[in-house]
Amino acid sequence: MQKSRIWLSAPHMGETEQKKIAEAFQTNWIAPLGPNVDQFEEMIRKAVSIEQALVVSSGTAALHLALILLNVQADDYVFCQSFTFSASANPIAYLGARPVFIDSEKDTWNMDPLLLEQALFDFDKKGKLPKAIILVDLYGMPARLEEIASIASRFGVPIIEDAAEALGSKKGSAYCGTFGSLGIFSFNGNKIITTSGGGALVGRSFELIQRGKYLATQARQNVPHYEHTDIGYNYRMSNVLAGIGIGQMEVLTQRVLARRANFEKYRTYFKSWNEKGFQVEFQQESDGAYSNRWLTTIVIDPRFNDNFKVESIYQGLLEENIESRPLWKPMHLQPVFKNDLVYATGVSEYLFNHGLCMPSGSGLTDNDFSRIFETLDRIIKQH
Ligand SMILES: *Cc1c(COP(=O)(O)O)cnc(C)c1O
Repeated sequence: MQKSRIWLSAPHMGETEQKKIAEAFQTNWIAPLGPNVDQFEEMIRKAVSIEQALVVSSGTAALHLALILLNVQADDYVFCQSFTFSASANPIAYLGARPVFIDSEKDTWNMDPLLLEQALFDFDKKGKLPKAIILVDLYGMPARLEEIASIASRFGVPIIEDAAEALGSKKGSAYCGTFGSLGIFSFNGNKIITTSGGGALVGRSFELIQRGKYLATQARQNVPHYEHTDIGYNYRMSNVLAGIGIGQMEVLTQRVLARRANFEKYRTYFKSWNEKGFQVEFQQESDGAYSNRWLTTIVIDPRFNDNFKVESIYQGLLEENIESRPLWKPMHLQPVFKNDLVYATGVSEYLFNHGLCMPSGSGLTDNDFSRIFETLDRIIKQH
């Protein structure tokens, strides 16, 4: 018999999501906007201590709006972390703007501040500073946020923090998503909490977020006859899905603790292998960082491990019906962005070549972990 599937990051519902959906049906608030939307936005503001929040149909939509709000136009440059999911960079292309990809540093795996500084310096000399910088807190790990913010502000370039994977992560006392002019979150199916699909745009400026709300609602002027002076978008979240979001926000802290506990289990497991000379690297929390550990990721360098290839773990887990996944392929190595500029050091390429995302759902059981660790034991011993 086929063993049951262990997923990389399965949705994990709490207890009130269905009640909130039922309420939306009972009151016939099925349309976009409505009381669940307002309450969900309020909960996000509180959870990350930010003044303004707008929930939208996806994290990608939130990024697209963020770029528009920062006045990014065709042929403008936008600097973007190369080591990320393509949704961080696609909205740059939607606007006909030009991405310049920046490589990562080795500890957090996020944007390298020194490389960013170099790129800003070069583009400043040409009089072509970017309109925005998109930085990412990959797999939930806070980037070197203060350093990057201080470099960016020296050049007067605003930051968009793509915290799609980092809801609940912190740096010092501030939450991820709040370090830039604008930040975004995703509630897609496999994120730390989910509305099945959805996202949020957050920031301090009332004017910016209000304008985002207006653009996301088809840019309708406040008159009965649908007057338009801007091109609008249909990006708002439905009241039904916001109901799921409310239930999920109630359990966010538990979900973060569960994901961090997963990470500790993997770390302890691989430590015993480490003592036998098998070396596994993890993403490191920099000073004062608190990661939600959305996904536990490992890197195994074949040069130090008798030519062991991380693909053998991927394959071996798959044979046991356990899902794992390679790390994100850097944008500067993607065919679709092959003509764009890049500042690369090789760090993200190295991580991509030797890394793997382990099963990391907040609903994983002790049994699931026993199966995972038994399988890993077998794969590593075989080598
Ligand atoms: C998931 C994700 C997005 C996009 O969010 P969607 O809600 O799926 O549109 C953007 N950036 C990163 C880093 C992501 O992981």
